Amino acid sequence: MFISLEELELHRVVVSETYASGALDYRGAGFKQLGPMKVSASAELRGQEIHIQGHIGGRLGAECDRCLTNVEIPVERDFDLYYRQLQTIARQEEVEVPAGELNVGFFSDAGIVLEDVVSEQVILSVPMKVVCRTDCQGLCPVCKADLNRVQCGCRDRPPGAESPFSSLLEH
Ligand SMILES: [Zn+2]
Ligand SMILES: [Zn+2]
Repeated sequence: MFISLEELELHRVVVSETYASGALDYRGAGFKQLGPMKVSASAELRGQEIHIQGHIGGRLGAECDRCLTNVEIPVERDFDLYYRQLQTIARQEEVEVPAGELNVGFFSDAGIVLEDVVSEQVILSVPMKVVCRTDCQGLCPVCKADLNRVQCGCRDRPPGAESPFSSLLEH
């Protein structure tokens, strides 16, 4: 959905959208959308800037960074953003966002694409490290066993004895 500057000059734009899995482009991020992603937002002009605020709700699925099991990540994110038109900034002028204005983005056409705003916010809502639980033990680097479920004993074995069965063969 395109929210145009032209329309915003006339009135505030209030939107409510539901995006099915696959409808939003997460630019190769390492998660999948599970079920619909719901967005409610309102946009208005504030001087030269587009102010958009709203809420995104949905669910994502990703793999635990340590043990690779599937993890469900709930998304409940409020956003409050300003977009500045790129043409209003002189070419040579360095684009510097003052501290405290970190929520300022830029738009180059005659408005903003809601889907771009939403997919960016969803990406930002995902933690840097996805873990199934804070004390996840991960996979054994030697035998790939899930250390949350088994004690493979590789860590206690001296280097060189790679197979968990090599000690049995000696007897
Ligand atoms: Zn895990
Ligand atoms: Zn192991």
